[in-house]
Amino acid sequence: MAQTKIEWTELTWNPTTGCNKVSQGCKFCYAEVMAKRLKAMGQPKYENGFKLTLHESALNIPYTWKTPKIVFVNSMSDLFHKNIPLEFIQRVFSVMNDNPQHVFQILTKRADILLEYHKQLKWTHNIWMGVSVENEKELWRVDLLRKTKAKTKFLSCEPLLGPLTKLKLKNIDWVIVGGESGRKPRPMKEEWVFEIFEKCEKANVKFFFKQWGGTNKKKTGRILNGRTYDDMPEVQILF
Ligand code: SF4
Repeated sequence: MAQTKIEWTELTWNPTTGCNKVSQGCKFCYAEVMAKRLKAMGQPKYENGFKLTLHESALNIPYTWKTPKIVFVNSMSDLFHKNIPLEFIQRVFSVMNDNPQHVFQILTKRADILLEYHKQLKWTHNIWMGVSVENEKELWRVDLLRKTKAKTKFLSCEPLLGPLTKLKLKNIDWVIVGGESGRKPRPMKEEWVFEIFEKCEKANVKFFFKQWGGTNKKKTGRILNGRTYDDMPEVQILF
């Protein structure tokens, strides 16, 4: 478990670490930069750097949290990476099923593998399933997410790299939008953000505006229409 600065969650939990790049959104992968840094710092969990690694010892961590948490699962990896066996993913799900007091947010770019496995996973109410959509080329991920049994479905449009004019929000509960930050961020146009915002308003979908991004994300901030947008699906705490 680790505290995180990610605005739409509280904690991160990484039963796997490492990944490899699959689309434009991966170009400046934050997890890759962090994994290499943590390896250089001698952190045992990152001795393999950004190479995919399963961490059996991390599986039981959610049982130790004393109060309900909102948790981003695998901020340093992708739970539906092709080299993670279904059996291991089922064990991760079993921990989430056993801990209904916590909300677990999973985000993947491998919507094809998610759809392949979804019937063999138990989708309790506390598991929010999301896909990344950085441009229209990746809209297929939304269509596959829609077909899954996940009870709460969300999109992370970050880094938003192009317009999502053809995006449809049927059966989607939540959309996060953000621009790229870092040393060489690719630009995000205001009109792309407004278009998604308007789609969410029209479809009554929760909207979270994470950041404008750029080389100084603190300076560009996260104000849209003169305010912040921090909407999230309702968190149900069941024991
Ligand atoms: S899928 Fe996610 S974790 Fe994997 S390389 Fe791409 S951005 Fe990084």
